[in-house]
Amino acid sequence: MMSIVFSMVHQRTDPPASAASAGPALPQSLRPVEQGDLLKIGAASYCVLSTPEAAANAGIVVGDRAILVVDTRLSPSLGADLKAAALEVAGDGERELLFVNTHAHGDHIFGNSQFAGLTGISTRFAQDALARDETWRRSIDSFSSRRPYLREQLEGAAQVAPTIGFDGTLVLDLGGVSVELVALGKAHTPGDLIVRVPSDNVVYTADLLYNGHWPVLTYGDYDTWMKWLDLLIADDQDYYVPGHGPGGGVEVVQTVRDSWSFLLEQARTGHEGAELAQALDASPYSDWLHRERIPGVLELLRERNV
Ligand SMILES: [Zn+2]
Repeated sequence: MMSIVFSMVHQRTDPPASAASAGPALPQSLRPVEQGDLLKIGAASYCVLSTPEAAANAGIVVGDRAILVVDTRLSPSLGADLKAAALEVAGDGERELLFVNTHAHGDHIFGNSQFAGLTGISTRFAQDALARDETWRRSIDSFSSRRPYLREQLEGAAQVAPTIGFDGTLVLDLGGVSVELVALGKAHTPGDLIVRVPSDNVVYTADLLYNGHWPVLTYGDYDTWMKWLDLLIADDQDYYVPGHGPGGGVEVVQTVRDSWSFLLEQARTGHEGAELAQALDASPYSDWLHRERIPGVLELLRERNV
C-alpha cells in the first residue's frame, strides 16, 4: 500500500504565517521516559526533554490520520522508547507514523532504526548526507569515542535515511492538525529544519536553540543562524522546544540570542583562557554546559570576521 503521506504533502513558497497567540502554554509533564521527561505542550503537541546524558530533545505531533515524530533521539533504545511514547499519547485509532530528522547529527538520528520502513522527511541536504554510509560510520565513531557508554548501543544504530527530502517549506496535514516544516538553509548545519505547529503555537527548533548548553557552529553559518533566531523571536509563539535543554516561551529564544551576543563580544575582545573563564563566571551563563566548545566557536567567529 502506498503511503498516505504523498496525498498530505504539498510545497509552499510563501513564508509561514504567524499564528495568533492564545496565551502562554502550560506544559504538563505526563511521565518520565528513558533519560528524559514526556511533556504535553499543546492540544496535539508533545515533547521529550532529554537529560544532558541523552543529549537531544524530540517531539511528537498527533493528528487524526498520522503521528509525526520530530527526531529520533541518541540511540536505538531511546528511539524505541520515543516510538512507544508516541503510540501511547496518540491512543486508539489507526494512524500512519512518520518521522522527521531536523538535521544529520547523530544525537538526532541514531534512533532512526526504530522507524525503518516508515516515511521519513528531512531537508534535501540532510537526506543526501544520511543516505551515505560514511556519515553514519563517522558519526557513530565520533559519538562512541566521546561517550564510551554508547559504544555497544550504537553498534545497533542501523542506517535508516529519510525517504523524502525538501527545500523551502513543506506543509503536512496530519488530519485536523497542520505542521509546517521549514528548511533553514545553512544555520547550525548546512541542512537544518524547524517544525511549526500553528494551531498549538509550538515550534520544534532543533539545534537552532541550545538552551543551557553552548552550541556547535563548526558546520554552520553565524549570520543565517542569528537571522532565524530573530525571526523566531518575532514569531512569538507559546512554546519553543530546543534541540538541547529546557523549552519555554519566547524568553528562551531571547536568552539564547543574548548568549550569542555574549560570545560575539568575547570574540571581538579577544578573550581567552582565564579572562574568558572569568567573563563566563560573571555572566548569566555561568552554569551552561559544554564550555569546552566555546574556544572553537570564538575562533570561527574571528575567522569569519563577524
Ligand atoms: Zn546538531
